Amino acid sequence: MARCSRPTWRTGERVDAVTARTVRLGGGEVLEADVVVLGVGATPNVELAEAAGLLVDDGVVTDEHFATSHPDVYAIGDVASTLHTGRGEAVRVEHWDDAVRQGEAVASVLLGQDAAYDWEPYFFTDQYDLGMEYVGHGSGDDDVVVRGELDDGAGDGEFIVFWQRDGVVTAAMNVNIWDVQDDLRALVGQEVSAERLADPNVELADLA
Ligand SMILES: Cc1cc2nc3c(=O)[nH]c(=O)nc-3n(C[C@H](O)[C@H](O)[C@H](O)COP(=O)(O)OP(=O)(O)OC[C@H]3O[C@@H](n4cnc5c(N)ncnc54)[C@H](O)[C@@H]3O)c2cc1C
Repeated sequence: MARCSRPTWRTGERVDAVTARTVRLGGGEVLEADVVVLGVGATPNVELAEAAGLLVDDGVVTDEHFATSHPDVYAIGDVASTLHTGRGEAVRVEHWDDAVRQGEAVASVLLGQDAAYDWEPYFFTDQYDLGMEYVGHGSGDDDVVVRGELDDGAGDGEFIVFWQRDGVVTAAMNVNIWDVQDDLRALVGQEVSAERLADPNVELADLA
């Protein structure tokens, strides 16, 4: 994988069989493979919390101060489904930045200070020659708006993607464009027309 410049993505395919050296797709096509890597997603490891009697619902349920249903137990990070103050709903994300910030916030709570889950989730990732940062918490049902040219596989893609629900920006991701996170973060939660979001002639800082 590391030697590949870019993989070829085959979406919407069913895998019928995997052998030591081949993968047979639903349509009968057989692909040769040196190594087959199976990605099946991740689920929170909540057995211990359940056994302890904590409320669990897609993770260990906490209030906005990271307190679980037991007064002496707090939960943060990937395993926690935490009430987000801005969204008014539970959010459970698997982001490094959130795990770090929640650790700092729960330490403040334990010291008697008033800290809450009130920031927009953020992650960064590099996929081959695409570097990206994402802020917010979009959903697969949201409308998607692209500013710039979507990457065409040549590796020259520089673009920003916005997710919107009822005209309100729920998340934004910059790809191979840098130093725009402050502007994108300011847009999350704002109502902005899709036309303006997509228009490269409108400065990001002027959208909010
Ligand atoms: C392959 C991969 C790539 C990723 N890439 C990115 C990325 O590019 N950007 C990004 O933002 N995030 C990324 N993440 C997510 C990021 O790593 C996690 O969000 C972050 O590590 C969560 O921290 P955590 O402390 O909540 O959980 P973890 O880091 O999973 O730590 C939980 C710890 O608890 C231990 N544990 C579990 N059960 C028990 C038990 N019963 N008793 C004692 N110990 C227990 C586990 O062994 C583990 O050490 C990636 C994750 C993976 C797996």
